[in-house]
Amino acid sequence: MKTPQFDRRKLLKAALFTSAAFLASPMGRARAQALAGKTVIVVGAGVAGLTAAKTLKDQGAEVIVLEANPHIGGRLRTDWSMGAPFEVGAGWIHGPSDDNPAKQLTDAVGAQYVVTDDENLVVFNEQGEEISEEELVEINEAWTDILDKIDESLESGDQRSVLQAINDVAPGAMNEPGVAWAMSAYTEFSTGAPIENLSAYYFNSDKAFDLPDVAVTTGYDKLLGPLADGLDIKLSTIVKQIAYGDDGVTVSTDKGDFDGDYVVCSLPLGVLKAKTVAFDPPLPDDYQSNIDNLAFGTVTKLALKFTEPFWDIETQYFGIMTSEKGRWNYWLNYRTFSNENILLGLSVGAYAPVADRMSDAEQIADGMDVLRSVWGDAVTEPVQVLSTHWATDPHFLGAYAYIRPGGRASQCDDLANPIEDRLFLCGEHTIFDYKGTIHGAYMTGLIAAEHVMDAV
Ligand SMILES: Cc1cc2nc3c(=O)[nH]c(=O)nc-3n(C[C@H](O)[C@H](O)[C@H](O)COP(=O)(O)OP(=O)(O)OC[C@H]3O[C@@H](n4cnc5c(N)ncnc54)[C@H](O)[C@@H]3O)c2cc1C
Repeated sequence: MKTPQFDRRKLLKAALFTSAAFLASPMGRARAQALAGKTVIVVGAGVAGLTAAKTLKDQGAEVIVLEANPHIGGRLRTDWSMGAPFEVGAGWIHGPSDDNPAKQLTDAVGAQYVVTDDENLVVFNEQGEEISEEELVEINEAWTDILDKIDESLESGDQRSVLQAINDVAPGAMNEPGVAWAMSAYTEFSTGAPIENLSAYYFNSDKAFDLPDVAVTTGYDKLLGPLADGLDIKLSTIVKQIAYGDDGVTVSTDKGDFDGDYVVCSLPLGVLKAKTVAFDPPLPDDYQSNIDNLAFGTVTKLALKFTEPFWDIETQYFGIMTSEKGRWNYWLNYRTFSNENILLGLSVGAYAPVADRMSDAEQIADGMDVLRSVWGDAVTEPVQVLSTHWATDPHFLGAYAYIRPGGRASQCDDLANPIEDRLFLCGEHTIFDYKGTIHGAYMTGLIAAEHVMDAV
């Protein structure tokens, strides 16, 4: 059965029922009574799972959270070992307006922010030469012009990839290194997808909150504290199977079985695609086919710390045109918001999984090679390095979801529909409009909790 798609009204309702006023209302109390004595097993302690768990616990359910990793947070984790926050997963609050739930959560823990200014950017060409401001303006205009033309050229049911659409609306544009760089550093980074695999129809139609992005200088993952507060979370517990039926649910793990009335499953799309967790009975065909058809991209990060800066410490971002698309082509300069001499490089698009599969030594050599193409012998050996391997981590197998050519937005949204009123999927991949974000993951946790309450 096809149930209505997620919409703003529903979201508002979901956000409302967590408010103190609602909990104290007759309807809130009635729901809490219905949940009393019910046990909900939540799989995964990322933002979505914790949000669902916290909401249901606050509403009176017994909740057990099962998490494979020895820590909570999933794709939200801050590493302080370099003296400044290295955000292993999510790094920015996209659109930090007051109505963005991620901003509300970080405000609640007294976070401090830095506005990352995409215009504070210097770009170098393949010869390592800094391009002029005029050239950068031209590149940015060409990029937006192509996106606008793609938008105008779209027809209902358009099956093209972004790359095919670029070649249609601006033949030869991808041969211009500046345009190719912008398509990768901007579009492939924000979508986590190679433009050759990304739906031209859907890649630019997510919803966004207002205001320029911010990074959380006090650490993004501090928002997890209140979400996890008081929850029974079993860390280092790997879920192997989720059985669901009329009598309830049994979740089998490497530490034994957990029985309950309902199960909320926030497993990342990569894990669902790999089928390393079994469902009994198997997921309904339409869910499985949506999981198979959605794509899960990746982004690879490399943070290099040096004793002295060899770069301009006032410039926030460095763009570097590399002949291989997506190869360490965008760098964030930590000196613009900390005292640490750190450059954070990003590999995106088809190169991100290539960089992900490299050993740490290979990754460093690869990133340093790109830095030397600009700063030559001035580049010193790093004194500390951190890097990410999301695509090969068996508990994630990627970074965030995207729509393939020929795919549909409903492939995300339909996954959030309850399964036999026992099993409820959530996570960033279950909300097309806000997928690939912390605020999206949070919203899906609220929606899953609401679905559980509707099922009681
Ligand atoms: C590199 C990168 C950069 C990003 N940048 C941004 C950004 O700048 N801004 C932004 O808003 N968002 C960003 N995101 C996206 C954001 O991090 C995610 O959308 C969000 O964290 C997903 O939350 P989730 O709860 O859906 O999934 P997850 O956080 O992945 O939670 C799922 C949990 O399930 C656990 N799990 C997996 N397998 C098992 C198992 N078998 N048994 C038990 N537990 C299991 C995992 O360990 C994990 O903790 C980024 C993500 C990545 C990876």
